[in-house]
Amino acid sequence: MRLETRGLSWQAAASYIVEEVSLRVAEGELVGLIGPNGSGKSTLLRMIYRVLRPAAGHALVDGRDVWRLSARENARRMAVLAQEQAGEFGFTVRDMVLMGRTAHRTAFERDGPDDFAIVEEALRRVGVDHLAGRAFGTLSGGEKQRVLIARALAQEAGLLVLDEPTNHLDVRHQFEIMNLIRGLGLTAIAALHELHIAAHYCDRLFLLQDGRLVHCGTPAEVLTEPIIAAVYGVSARVRISPRTGRPRIELLPDELC
Ligand code: ADP
Ligand code: MG
Repeated sequence: MRLETRGLSWQAAASYIVEEVSLRVAEGELVGLIGPNGSGKSTLLRMIYRVLRPAAGHALVDGRDVWRLSARENARRMAVLAQEQAGEFGFTVRDMVLMGRTAHRTAFERDGPDDFAIVEEALRRVGVDHLAGRAFGTLSGGEKQRVLIARALAQEAGLLVLDEPTNHLDVRHQFEIMNLIRGLGLTAIAALHELHIAAHYCDRLFLLQDGRLVHCGTPAEVLTEPIIAAVYGVSARVRISPRTGRPRIELLPDELC
């Protein structure tokens, strides 16, 4: 699936939180949305996954405006891993993943054998089948993220929207989750906090500053020393890895600009 935003904007009181953001994500691409805290990443994603109505502009999935589709139609196209996951702690892992099937049946239809088979396959594919009977609330952060990815798979959506999927995870689990996401081969847009994660895993990056899209391109094009200094206000030393062609970033906190 393809994602496109055209002049997407959102305002609070008199000021723009997101201002005229236009971007495209091609079929099968994994793109990173980066930018300092408060730059508008989550607000932009919320407009894309249809919980925040844009003040102006459009978000299109395969050319169709998400606000012109029903929540159910959207759920068949787009799976979301948002940051807030409240109220789901009493469910087992299997129940959580089964929720991904909701968009594929009517309110009065029960889960069928196909649904259960799809759930088992999703659990297996992300390596959490052994946790199927556990209460979701008892899992570690990395396990929870895996289960939510399994739910997204069970949803059989072509587009994955992720808001800081590696938040609160240690480095090894950050790598595991990003490898898993990349390995799915779905079109994906992820707000990412850690520049080294964005540099290593993403095909392209979109950099937000004060609600505006200020740079986009490959990680090597976007994560340069001058851009990091200008947007994040810290000194960085960037080397392009000869092996991967991707930037290796050394941040220097003692030399704040
Ligand atoms: P990011 O995800 O990049 O950290 P956010 O999109 O969460 O940024 O927030 C961008 C800015 O918008 C922040 O300054 C935040 O305080 C502000 N903001 C977000 N939601 C609202 C709201 N409902 N009302 C007013 N301001 C908001
Ligand atoms: Mg955010």
